[in-house]
Amino acid sequence: MKQICVVGTGYVGLVNGTCFADLGNSVVTVDINQAKIDSLNAGHMPIYEPGLREIVERNVQAGRLRFTTSYEDGLKDAEFVFICVGTPEGEDGEAELKYVRAAAATIAKTMTRPLVIINKSTVPVGTGDMVSNVIRNNQPTPIKFGVVSCPEFLREGSAVQDFVTPDRTVLGSTPEDHWAAEAVAQIYLPLRAPIMMTDLRTAEMIKYASNAFLATRLSFINEIANICERLGADVIEVARGMGFDKRIGHHFLQPGVGYGGSCFPKDVKALTFMAAEAGAHPQLLNAVTEINAFQRKRVADKLHELLGDVSGKTVAILGLAFKENTDDIRESPSLDIAALLIRRGAIIRGYDPVAMPNTAAEMPEIVMCKDSYDAVKGADAVVIGTPWNEFKQLDMERVRNAMTTPIMIDGRNIHEPERMKSLGFIYRGVGRGYNGDGADA
Ligand code: NAD
Repeated sequence: MKQICVVGTGYVGLVNGTCFADLGNSVVTVDINQAKIDSLNAGHMPIYEPGLREIVERNVQAGRLRFTTSYEDGLKDAEFVFICVGTPEGEDGEAELKYVRAAAATIAKTMTRPLVIINKSTVPVGTGDMVSNVIRNNQPTPIKFGVVSCPEFLREGSAVQDFVTPDRTVLGSTPEDHWAAEAVAQIYLPLRAPIMMTDLRTAEMIKYASNAFLATRLSFINEIANICERLGADVIEVARGMGFDKRIGHHFLQPGVGYGGSCFPKDVKALTFMAAEAGAHPQLLNAVTEINAFQRKRVADKLHELLGDVSGKTVAILGLAFKENTDDIRESPSLDIAALLIRRGAIIRGYDPVAMPNTAAEMPEIVMCKDSYDAVKGADAVVIGTPWNEFKQLDMERVRNAMTTPIMIDGRNIHEPERMKSLGFIYRGVGRGYNGDGADA
């Protein structure tokens, strides 16, 4: 049993803290957000993540998991501290490091015993060195510490499963801090996943390169989808045919409204910024971001094509979270599309199984509806923005009858064009050739 402190109790910190506690460790998670800690201590979950609530409750009851705003409390017995604070997009796409810097400084001022400090936040190459300097410069008296980069690869929506069965754990350190990386490896051993030990900067780069590669696959298939629309091919079949090639594989070849969330958009931009700063020419990364923005605009363009001017028209958006199984709306394509349409004068009615409270706080202009059928009532068009399962089995006749005009823009290709047409919809998917896009076949 190890004593672990987790700084930052968001999607990454709460999942890591909880799952490490479930492995039998003693964990205290710290956050500066008093309301978040109060709500956790009152038994409420600040985020929606499948399966997490049960594990939190189990470990709180067992006395292995606690939540606090006090660094003193969190670090009192800690041998390991994970930094899991946000690194949002800053100016010009650069990663904002003020939360990491503040967390490191507070750790330095508060620590009373030797400590392994682990950077889990996604941070630009070189941040590990910066954290070492911040710790050294802020310790009232020198206490031994080591800094390790251990980038996080979990996916929201399946974060617990991803913690338990990671594809790999990457640990980066300087040669002087290798002892600290070895210590971190010990707490990951029970997961029985490959552990890759490397240097600090390489570990930081692995995270950015991984996300940029996945985002590139998505922008690639979105570009192919747009070409399919022009040439009358079906991108779903194209992606399937490509994916059987073992060199390509099926993952991350689903065309749609573009990637969103708290990671891909900002990480691609941060890598682009880092590259340009270092004198490199990140032309592919620039294109990945550009295609992603274009993909949202395509939805508005398709609506314009079918409805003419959207001013005064009502558009229902089904799904507001950036993807299914999460309440996270950061960089959500649906919200970008809503904002674009609102700017053009449309009225937006929205529904999402779990992301409506977050959306209402962010975009009060969207009329929140009690379910999908309520959302499409009187709508001139419906856009499917998130592929939640419950949108796949809707009573489509009821949907069609509730709408003023049965126009459906299926931004996630969850329906079959032919079926939707036979049900009387004017249907547009993404990249589905003449049958699902462009002129009716
Ligand atoms: P988040 O915004 O959900 O949580 C961050 C938390 O840190 C917040 O609760 C905030 O109050 C807290 N915080 C900020 N400053 C603090 C401080 N000085 N001391 C203590 N707490 C502080 O963010 P997240 O989604 O959990 O992401 C955290 C990091 O992990 C980011 O760098 C992100 O890029 C990376 N990451 C996220 C995911 C994901 O799916 N969310 C996946 C991989 C990596």
